[in-house]
Parts: sequence; C-alpha cells; structure tokens
Amino acid sequence: MSEPLLALNVSDKRFQSRSVIDGVRFDIRPGEIVSLLGPSGCGKSTLLRIVAGLDEDYRGTVRIKGAAPHLHSPDVGFIFQEPRLLPWLTVADNVGFEAGRGGGGHPRVRELLAEVGLADFADAYPKQLSGGMAQRAAIARGLFAQPALLLLDEPFSAVDAFTRMRLQDLLLSLAERHGTTLLLVTHDIDEAAYLSDRIFVMSANPGRIAGEIEVGLPRPRDRAAVELSHAQARALTLLHGEQLDYLDLTGELAARPRPLEPVDFASLSFAV
Ligand code: ADP
Ligand code: MG
Repeated sequence: MSEPLLALNVSDKRFQSRSVIDGVRFDIRPGEIVSLLGPSGCGKSTLLRIVAGLDEDYRGTVRIKGAAPHLHSPDVGFIFQEPRLLPWLTVADNVGFEAGRGGGGHPRVRELLAEVGLADFADAYPKQLSGGMAQRAAIARGLFAQPALLLLDEPFSAVDAFTRMRLQDLLLSLAERHGTTLLLVTHDIDEAAYLSDRIFVMSANPGRIAGEIEVGLPRPRDRAAVELSHAQARALTLLHGEQLDYLDLTGELAARPRPLEPVDFASLSFAV
C-alpha cells in the first residue's frame, strides 16, 4: 500500500475553551477522492483549514507528504464555496495569480482555461461571469500550481442544481487527468456518494467521525445507481439514524428496481 499523501490526527481543537474537534484521525492515499460529510457546525471547515495550514492552534499532528502543513504550500490547493476571484484582475490573471504579476500570460493558464471551458473568457473580468463560470475559474486557479492535494469546502453549494452536476463531472475529469487527490467538504449526501471513493461521516458537538463509508461503485459513476446505493443508505443512517431505523438498510434498498430511467447529463447542453 502506498504512503498516505495526508496523515491527519487532530486529537483536540478548541475555540476559546469549547472543544469543536475531538479525536479525528484519517489517512488519504494519493489519487483518492475523500469527502467529509456532516451537518453544519460539525467542524468540517475547521479541519480543512488545519490541513491548509490556515489554523495551527490544535493538538495533534497533520502531515502532507510527511511535512507539516504550511500556508502557500505548492502541494495544496484550496477552493471555497464562493469563487473569491479578485474583481480587478482578468480571469486569466486570477487563474495565474500564484505566478505573480502578469501571471495570466503563463502557458498553463490557457491550458487550464480551455480545460474548464473558459478559453474565450481569458480577458473577461469576474463580474462578466455567471456563478458557475466563476467557480470554474476558481477551480482552474486551484489547479494552477499543480497541487497534489486539492481541498474543496462546499464548492458547489452556491450554484443551482444543474450547474452543480456539471461542475461535479468537471471536477472528476480534472482530478483524473491531473492525478489530483481530493478532500472535499460537503453536507450533501448525493454529492459525497457521487464523487467519493470514501466518505467520513461526521457528527457535531464536538466534531467526531461517526462512520467511514467505502463507496465501492464503478467509475464513471451513474447518478441513478448512486442514489440507490448502499453508500447512500449508510450515509443517511449515520446522519439521521434514529429517524430512518424503520428502513431495512442491509441491502434491500440497494436491490430495489430503479424508479426512473437514468438521465444522461452529458447529453444535455446548457451553459454553466
Ligand atoms: P462546519 O464547516 O462543519 O459547518 P466549522 O468548522 O465552521 O463547521 O465550525 C465548527 C464549530 O466551530 C462551530 O460550532 C463553529 O461555530 C465553531 N467555530 C468555527 N470557527 C470559529 C471561530 N473562528 N471562533 C469561534 N468558534 C468557531
Ligand atoms: Mg463549513
């Protein structure tokens, strides 16, 4: 088995005296796609900020390729819920921001803009982009430095449902093409099951891992199959156990016939 890309052990994280993370421990292998799934306030963003080197005030050890996290690490990229593009820079200069002044002229910027479908918007300004386009530019910016690990904090929760599906598929294809490992925070069960190899379901007060799910579905993923999968059912039980214990979650759900023909999202054409 390969060395973990990320080895995380946060034994205790407090804000003032309140414990918000208590004993969260996991490893991520190179090339994996892992989600942290849990209700608001369970500590997902706090964990991501620790991995990004944005918060060093915790007990435990975190290692990325064997080294402690630090800000501006070339090994780590970060994508937020909002695109956070700088309004006074062109799309190209935003994507190439890490290369410094005039970074938009870097050859990788053009390649990345083409990959995210924004080749014609290199010289546009952020206010000229739709929400989905702006988030695609943010993804390109996150990949610019070729990070081994890309952290994403609820990256698609601010866009509409159709845009979200297109962005999820774009993210999967980019991660595969660039060999990028993904650690994604989400509170959306469908999204976690559709994207991930493994899901860590978290509970709150203080934040802990309530369970780990191996998704185990073939790639490319089939959205309809994901919806009826055992992974979905396990995530639902872990998140809402009490309310759902009347369901037989041991396989009956996964075996049910599909209620609808799966939609071929790739064949639908609309602008994101
Ligand atoms: P999530 O991303 O899962 O919604 P967060 O990691 O943002 O949760 O927050 C976890 C807990 O820590 C919450 O109870 C939140 O109120 C608290 N918290 C987060 N950031 C701060 C902060 N800067 N100061 C005090 N409390 C915070
Ligand atoms: Mg959060």
